[in-house]
Amino acid sequence: MTSLLSVQNLSVFYGAGAQAVEDVSFEVEPGRVTALLGANGAGKSSIMQAVAGLVPSKGKLLFEGEDIGGLPTRERVRRGIVYVPERREIVGDLSVRENLVLGGYQVPSRERQERMDAILELFPEIASKIDRGAWRLSGGEQQMLAIGRGLMSGPRLLLLDEPSLGLAPLLVRRVFERLGAIRGGGDLAIVLVEQNLRMTMRLCDELHFLRGGRIVGYRRAEELQDDAARQQAIDAYLGATPAELEKEHA
Ligand code: ATP
Repeated sequence: MTSLLSVQNLSVFYGAGAQAVEDVSFEVEPGRVTALLGANGAGKSSIMQAVAGLVPSKGKLLFEGEDIGGLPTRERVRRGIVYVPERREIVGDLSVRENLVLGGYQVPSRERQERMDAILELFPEIASKIDRGAWRLSGGEQQMLAIGRGLMSGPRLLLLDEPSLGLAPLLVRRVFERLGAIRGGGDLAIVLVEQNLRMTMRLCDELHFLRGGRIVGYRRAEELQDDAARQQAIDAYLGATPAELEKEHA
């Protein structure tokens, strides 16, 4: 079976010598949630941005079997790849409705209304504030709007960069619940970047652990059901290495 997304030997460089991602490979199947976990600076966002066409990369990116590596971002969006950045980037001066319309600008207007209705049903918190300026939303509501805007174009692959960033635990749970509802509804695939293993476990099917720009570990979610297995993965892949601890104490 052809994967929805196949990332093969991906590398990302920022200027000479600054390598953020090194030889990363993974596959994403339709309807599956794949998590990229790692500490700050591990290269998670750079991978997402490379898939979205926002930063140049080396290696191969196949979407539905076709090489998309040379395509501009807008063409990748047209094919169904949508990136929701970590800082949300909603347009504060526009209303909630206008932000959603912007996300579906290339969708025929009848379909756009249907999508907006479905999204507002999913996120009632923002439905009740539809004509308010987006800047007036809380952090959690802004995250819902950012995800909703991403869904407006009808993606096949949603790239979600730290949806929990800056949110109180209760709101994080709410956002993740809604993501669970979205994934339950069809064959949309999600690649999720997170730092929090426990939260990510609620949603994902498989996990890649990153460190220093490389994938250093892989688990299927079933393998991390019990506390001991989760702790073992945290210690092996997310905890500080002895070298890093030494640096901290130097
Ligand atoms: P975080 O969780 O902090 O967002 P991350 O795992 O997403 O981290 P990246 O943002 O991909 O990591 O960064 C990986 C490396 O690339 C880091 O060393 C970072 O400093 C560097 N980097 C990221 N963006 C740029 C940029 N635009 N210019 C130069 N270096 C960058």
